[in-house]
Amino acid sequence: LRKVYPVRGRHGELVAVDDVGFTVEAGRCLAVVGESGSGKSTCARIVAGLERATAGEVEVDGAPWPTGRLSTSERRRRATVVQMVFQDPYLSLDPRQRVRSCLEESLRLHFDLTAGQRACRVRELLDLVGLAEDHARLRPKQLSGGQRQRVAIARALATRPRLLILDEAVAALDVSIQAQILNVLMDAREHTGVALLFISHDLGVVRQLADDVVVMHHGKVVEQGRATTVFDHPADTRTRRLLESVP
Ligand code: ATP
Ligand code: MG
Repeated sequence: LRKVYPVRGRHGELVAVDDVGFTVEAGRCLAVVGESGSGKSTCARIVAGLERATAGEVEVDGAPWPTGRLSTSERRRRATVVQMVFQDPYLSLDPRQRVRSCLEESLRLHFDLTAGQRACRVRELLDLVGLAEDHARLRPKQLSGGQRQRVAIARALATRPRLLILDEAVAALDVSIQAQILNVLMDAREHTGVALLFISHDLGVVRQLADDVVVMHHGKVVEQGRATTVFDHPADTRTRRLLESVP
């Protein structure tokens, strides 16, 4: 993938992502790490279809993945394949919508279910992310930050995506809530086989969750491989520097 942004007010361009390639396998967690501005979110947005790559393509199951302007039916299909959760859950949640109706809405949009089946799926989803039935009556703003992020994850999982992209999705949460969310993600992976593309600047968290790691620096991949190999025997100086910057 390559992504070039025009630079406003100047005759120039910013190469945000250059010659980046990686594969996320079903049921595995691939983490993308790298210093701030290295191009992690840009890659995530391209894979999620929120942004078009300047060059290169995204493939799902070996077939090209359409980008750019999509028809409603294409958008709907995409939503059952790729979902993204952001650092701020409000980017995917409506603050006025109760948790139950938020989940039901997504189910209604993507599946042909009876009311009873839908209610059952909502219970399953709440259970998967460790929320009680009682929470379903509340609106996002009546929940704690960690609960809200779990609702965002439940909503993302409602479409049964093959790939879940998490861009700094646990960054704003305290350590015990982070641990809960990581457990939620590991459970979801086990129960649904969803692949995770996990973007984080927190290498401690990445170590706990990731099977594979991509290290980015200035828009390029400088190292990739099994998480244990990359963390325990980093081959690139930039990876080593990143690891050393962690207390
Ligand atoms: P962080 O860890 O701080 O979130 P990141 O690795 O996610 O950083 P990106 O957000 O992908 O980094 O940004 C990569 C580069 O692209 C940065 O130099 C950024 O300024 C630039 N960039 C990102 N989005 C845009 C945009 N919409 N327009 C112009 N430049 C952008
Ligand atoms: Mg980012």
